[in-house]
Amino acid sequence: MYYMCGIFGYIGAERDATETVLQGLKRLDYRGYDSWGVGISVNNSLQVEKHAGKIGESTAHLPKSSIAIGHTRWATHGAVTDKNAHPHFASDKSFILAQNGIVENYEELKIGLQKKGYRFISQTDTEVIVRLIEEIRKKSAGLVEAVSLAFKKLEGRNTIIVLSKDGDIIAVRNGSPLVLGTSDNGKEIYLSSDTLSFAPFVKKILVLDNGQMVVCKKHSIKLHDIKSGRAIPQKFEKNTIKDSLVDKGSFKHFMIKEINDTPATIARILEADTAQMIELVEAMRKAKRIFTLGSGTAGVSAAQIAFYLRTYAQIPAIALVGAEAKEYYDMFNKSDLIIAPSQSGETADVLEVLEVAKKKGVTIASHVNMAGSMMTRMSDFKFMALAGPEICVMSTKVFSAQIVWGYLLAKCASGELKEAQGNLASLSLQMKKYLDNPKTHKDVKRVAHHLAKSKSVYLLAQGQNLQIIKEGMVKLIEGAYVHAHAFLAGDLKHYAITLMEKGVPTVFVFSNDSLKKSLMNAVNEVRARGADAIGIGPETDESFKYFLQVPDTGETSAIMNTITLQLLAYYMALELKHNIDKPRNIAKSVTVS
Ligand code: GLU
Repeated sequence: MYYMCGIFGYIGAERDATETVLQGLKRLDYRGYDSWGVGISVNNSLQVEKHAGKIGESTAHLPKSSIAIGHTRWATHGAVTDKNAHPHFASDKSFILAQNGIVENYEELKIGLQKKGYRFISQTDTEVIVRLIEEIRKKSAGLVEAVSLAFKKLEGRNTIIVLSKDGDIIAVRNGSPLVLGTSDNGKEIYLSSDTLSFAPFVKKILVLDNGQMVVCKKHSIKLHDIKSGRAIPQKFEKNTIKDSLVDKGSFKHFMIKEINDTPATIARILEADTAQMIELVEAMRKAKRIFTLGSGTAGVSAAQIAFYLRTYAQIPAIALVGAEAKEYYDMFNKSDLIIAPSQSGETADVLEVLEVAKKKGVTIASHVNMAGSMMTRMSDFKFMALAGPEICVMSTKVFSAQIVWGYLLAKCASGELKEAQGNLASLSLQMKKYLDNPKTHKDVKRVAHHLAKSKSVYLLAQGQNLQIIKEGMVKLIEGAYVHAHAFLAGDLKHYAITLMEKGVPTVFVFSNDSLKKSLMNAVNEVRARGADAIGIGPETDESFKYFLQVPDTGETSAIMNTITLQLLAYYMALELKHNIDKPRNIAKSVTVS
């Protein structure tokens, strides 16, 4: 079970609060949602407008104000209706509340409150929080205290935002992210599920940790720990995300723009200081076992990082997938080390594994693209992916950044850091040339056109390209909604050969390495059964019906091949007229497992 959705809040006289919140929610829409709502405080009273459906071109018909909160809902409890949309009103209209998450004990709380005479007008678990605050308020003094006490009674991962009628915004995090930002002159306060949604307007950001509450008034921000009730020092960070990075520029979609960002990302990785990597290598030497861990695309990059560690550093790294790591819980101990790549640093099932591992004393190294994320906070070694904001739900440049970093780490561990830096510098240049060449796109489009008609696509590779075809499979499924199946070429004859018949599309991804010969055997085996063989690699062979030539970059050849597979998924999705940057049913950061 997972859900997405967004929270946004604004205090400031500089712009209209409703409009600001709506624009903010639109920038969060990659997270997915089915309804939306905005609430404002004007002249000591609250007004709400909420609807099922997308915001689209619509705007809210609320008076001008300087304080507002908003929410995009992904229904978990109760149908997608106007009534179930957030924010929800307190019975006496003294506050409104929106929630991101699931109150796992909502039934038990609801029955208790119903017995006390509370009535519920929506079917949501959210309303239980509202009524609970009302009940606690009867006994305790202020709203802030009541929100904190009520919040402590909730089970599950939840983040809430409350607006009081006199214009205070209270927000608590114990689940999906919550970031606060302040403008240049300090007069505007923004609250949101991610930094990107308000990046152009803020100078400083403050990322809340789980268990923290923020109370924002016109001229003050208070942060405290809800367990102890104690104030916490506010560690603001400089906002480093520039406006232009969140822009598509001349590209049609974020996906293609972000694939094109890859060479610059590699160059940035090469500029980064290597001192921490050297320290990590030392810790790896001391560790008895090394795991890599990720989910989805990052699960694939985790496996490729493990491959590089085994191949170049002879470190027998074990790759784990977030949702399947439970079997290791009892075995984790303080001589273990986990390397966890993640785009958002908030992936719930990975966080769960890391929480268990941390308690057992495992050393954690994370590689994350979002500054200040949960994963970064719990790590002993914190690496940034340096890919810049990635807006398309399908991860492309961040995946590449993860495996580039993994290659560098493995070579650093084998004492060949310099050589790896040289190889990557050359990769970055050759990749840029390849991406800038119109022929590249023309050729990939032609193959995409051919494959777009297929029901199933098979991808075959081995060695350094095995995980790369899994990345290709993920992208084809996500972007083109085509059944794709990646398998080890060496295993073909053991089972998948039964599927090979006339016209079946098979994509072979290879490098100029010692495995190429045996891969060509597999090509011949599928061709003998009438299947169409499409090749992606540095040099052609007449066995292929279509061939996509990729520059030969030696040891980094698999990274180069990744780009071609990502382009293939992009052009297939384009051909099929899919919603490329927001494929159906998936979200960028899955924050609940
Ligand atoms: N559980 C709440 C609901 O169903 C909130 C879901 C969300 O995170 O959007 O309304």
